Amino acid sequence: MSVFFLYFSPLKNDDIMTNTYSIGIDIGGTNTDIGLVCSDGRCIAKKNLSTNKYFDASQYVSDICERIKSLMTECGVTAIDGIGIAAPAGNFYTGCIEGATNLNFKGTVDLAALFHSYIDVPVVVSNDANAAAYGELVYGGAKGMKHFVMFTLGTGVGSGIVVDGKLVHGKTGGAGELGHAILIPEGRLCGCGRKGCLETYTSATGIRRTALELLETTPSYDGPLTKVNPDELTSKMVGDAANHGDSLALKVFELTGYWLGIAMANAVAFSGPEAIFLMGGPVKAGEVLMKPVRESFRKHLCFVYDGSVEVRVSELPDNDAAILGAAALTKAKDQ
Ligand SMILES: [Zn+2]
Repeated sequence: MSVFFLYFSPLKNDDIMTNTYSIGIDIGGTNTDIGLVCSDGRCIAKKNLSTNKYFDASQYVSDICERIKSLMTECGVTAIDGIGIAAPAGNFYTGCIEGATNLNFKGTVDLAALFHSYIDVPVVVSNDANAAAYGELVYGGAKGMKHFVMFTLGTGVGSGIVVDGKLVHGKTGGAGELGHAILIPEGRLCGCGRKGCLETYTSATGIRRTALELLETTPSYDGPLTKVNPDELTSKMVGDAANHGDSLALKVFELTGYWLGIAMANAVAFSGPEAIFLMGGPVKAGEVLMKPVRESFRKHLCFVYDGSVEVRVSELPDNDAAILGAAALTKAKDQ
């Protein structure tokens, strides 16, 4: 067999012969991205459509499946081994989207069943943070790891927890919502209806809130952030200002890193990971966030874990991270 393989491997179409392919679908409130992913971790082609122009889930899935077929035809791929879908409120156990607040499809939508009516391959559904964790495990910096936690910082904060090489889904499929672990009792009001959740402090939205609070309580500050209309202030603007040495923006990221470091130290006490990964827009601010994160993490980590946990930034490529994460879910189908 090895002679056979060695003889044929240098020939053209090597990719088609030795790799398998899967589809990763990232469903966002505005856009849906669909990618054809090679087993070596490359997203080789992608298409998208507008999620919010659909009100009929069946038509939406039908149009996605058309795009999947044209992606395969255009790339000369004749078979895929599964479809992974990262969706808001996506449930791994049921294959359904259940009461997503930012989609037009209300109630419970049986995504897996809808896809099966068009394409006969395994379909795996989960939320975007779980997909991100699986993407890191299958294609990114967590390859070969058995225990790690992924925090995704975006509009909210999501997390995915891998223990013994498996994503933790919990009783209902809702495990790993560390963004809604309460960091500060009676703190900021959260979209979930409670107060003080981690995501109200360390998401992109939380960073914006911190900046607005500091602007209000620091009348002596007259830096660049005073020139931005408060309604238009974004965490990226704060990150850019911090990287230009702006004192107030740096203070915002020091606070954000401090809070996130506490949440990470708490996560370690829960599952004893070998690494914690961070991904998402605010992480792109770089060391202005990561330095205070590491300092706070070290300060708050219980001594029994000293030196045993790495703090890492996701190694998935920015542009394809969500698609790769979704595609990686297909590798979870045997769990
Ligand atoms: Zn909350």
